[in-house]
Amino acid sequence: MKKFFLSSSVSELKGVGTKKLPLLNEIGIYTFSDLLYYFPRRYLDRNFTKDTFLKSGDKVTLLATVKESYLAHGKKSRLVVNVKTNRGEIISLVFFQGIQYFRNILKKGLELVVSGKLDYFNGYQIIHPDVEILLEEGEENLLHAGRIIPLYPSSDPLSKAGLDSRGFRRLVSQVLDFIKNGDLEIPEVLPKDILEKRNLLFRNIALCEIHFPTNEEELGKAKFRLSYEELFFFSLLLEYKKNLRESVRRVLWALPYSVSAEKVLSNLPFTLTEDQNKALEILKELSKKDKPFSALLQGDVGSGKTIVALLFALHYIDNQVQVCFVSPTEILAKQHYTTILNFLGNQPFIGVDLLVGKEKEKIKKEKLAQLKSANTMLVVGTHSLMQPDVEFSDLGLVIVDEQHKFGVEQREMIRSKGKNPDILAMTATPIPRTLCLTLYGDLNLITIPTKPSNRKPIKTYWFTEDKREAMYKSMRKYLMQKRQAYIVYPIIEESEKLDLESCIAGYENIKQNIFPDFSVGLLHGKMKTHEKDFIMEKFKKNEIQILVTTTVVEVGVDIPNATILVIESADRFGLSQLHQLRGRVGRGEFESHCILMTKQFVTEDAQVRLNAMVEHNDGFLLSEIDLNLRGPGELLGIRQSGLPDFKLANLVNDKQIIEMAREDAKGRSLNELDKLEIKTRFEEGKILFTN
Ligand code: ADP
Ligand code: MG
Repeated sequence: MKKFFLSSSVSELKGVGTKKLPLLNEIGIYTFSDLLYYFPRRYLDRNFTKDTFLKSGDKVTLLATVKESYLAHGKKSRLVVNVKTNRGEIISLVFFQGIQYFRNILKKGLELVVSGKLDYFNGYQIIHPDVEILLEEGEENLLHAGRIIPLYPSSDPLSKAGLDSRGFRRLVSQVLDFIKNGDLEIPEVLPKDILEKRNLLFRNIALCEIHFPTNEEELGKAKFRLSYEELFFFSLLLEYKKNLRESVRRVLWALPYSVSAEKVLSNLPFTLTEDQNKALEILKELSKKDKPFSALLQGDVGSGKTIVALLFALHYIDNQVQVCFVSPTEILAKQHYTTILNFLGNQPFIGVDLLVGKEKEKIKKEKLAQLKSANTMLVVGTHSLMQPDVEFSDLGLVIVDEQHKFGVEQREMIRSKGKNPDILAMTATPIPRTLCLTLYGDLNLITIPTKPSNRKPIKTYWFTEDKREAMYKSMRKYLMQKRQAYIVYPIIEESEKLDLESCIAGYENIKQNIFPDFSVGLLHGKMKTHEKDFIMEKFKKNEIQILVTTTVVEVGVDIPNATILVIESADRFGLSQLHQLRGRVGRGEFESHCILMTKQFVTEDAQVRLNAMVEHNDGFLLSEIDLNLRGPGELLGIRQSGLPDFKLANLVNDKQIIEMAREDAKGRSLNELDKLEIKTRFEEGKILFTN
């Protein structure tokens, strides 16, 4: 028999050809391992009903054969399909909907699994039963019935290509057969002592049980084992990271006092708030220690994190150590660069540079040379800073703005450009405290709880379509006073093209029909960099008064004269994202307004989000609400927090397992475990680094 490996391609499976393969790849399934770790979203108990006598109200699952079908016309026409169960009962299956469809597929002689609630009405009947056709050519019955069966996440295009739950069952069961026949070996990755101590299922068994569980109990054990596995490796890496961090920093901290920082401070057009000062002091304390540190500076949008980061950075720079400042978007990087130059009084007494996306080869070369020779001491940039040709002379501090926008690997990449540099991550999407403590127990959390006092609160309203005219009318009032407005459209990946179209249509409408007497601009992610720059520049100068845009303006953009923010289809945004967007206004002395537009009816979840926005202005509170609404998986998806995208483990509900895993990982180094085993896990791509 042919031997397989976890890394074998799914194209080895029966039924996977040129049609299914690209679709599988698209959802991240390339190998057997990927498929095995594509866990069911839920299960159906399709064990056949064993009771001898059936009675009305019973929920049953029965094996049956189609005898006849006919249309019945009464008050409502319906399709009646009479079936005979393998135990002898005759049951009428009644369909009021999908009559044509079921009439076509439920042909005489067909074998079915029928489940549903039994009624008695001149005989047994089930209205709108769940039917599953059995015995496709050569197929084993037990794949789809007679046991607990898995339901897999699918989508329209997947289903159309035969990758619905049944399709996935067929693929997964092939791999499980290989395991059972010994043609595919699943290396155990957890240490033996832990398997024993925690009474965990072996990995090969757990992987079989999670897909086709023998019973509820075994399913529970399988989930436990696999969640534990994720959390154990995660904890192990936290542990590993901690040890890394505990290595010695090579920065000799000679100057706790920075001349440059004092200079900037004395020229600020405002005074730092108490919270900003406190944050700065804590950071300075951390930097005096002999170990490199990681800190997360949390502060609501507009709380003034940038200046704190800059002042802190100047301490490094005065110590001849380089700093890099990474932003998630070009718009933001450019803005930071300008802001920093402003703070430095526009005559930079230190070498500051900007490194973003595509630059002319010659200019880029020059910039890189300046950086490498330490003529540039502070470099502001985007992902471009992660490229291999970016080299520092001595990078000592990495500032990551809007850190939730970066993946862990990306932060790692920058970090690796220095020798144990300190990390200052900043976020306005705070990780709820409870979660933070379990997961980042050793990360220094610094919070700026209040905003500068010159801020007027933002008034938030939720309007439905019928208020649109009135909304435009009051917008006009503020526009007449020279205030500026953002109109933001959602762009969701799955419907990107349509969304972009509606954003552009929205722009045309605003420009031609609603506010033809004002200057209107359009800004979206598909535009070329120089076009974006041009528009942003004009908006900054108030040459564009209304900016119709997408979430490209979500983070950080700072234009104090913009006081109106209209969010279209606001129900499609998550709560944290809405709050981030709202942070685009309320940045200056004028009162600001945030208008959430939705259609008349929105889902209950959306109502909770929208009401929370209207009621609360506090980002920390909103993030707790968001956590409750979405669970941490969504809230702290891989990009957001640097947390691995746990497939099974649930950071809120699995507190107990988290604690076990952390305890078990403590004191273990990666080396202590059999390297090969870990390597397998790495190669399978299931392990990710985190902060
Ligand atoms: P965020 O924390 O969202 O990154 P920024 O750092 O962009 O916020 O600051 C928002 C605005 O507040 C900026 O225009 C900044 O210059 C200003 N600002 C920062 N600190 C203060 C302060 N203490 N008093 C008044 N304005 C401040
Ligand atoms: Mg910011």
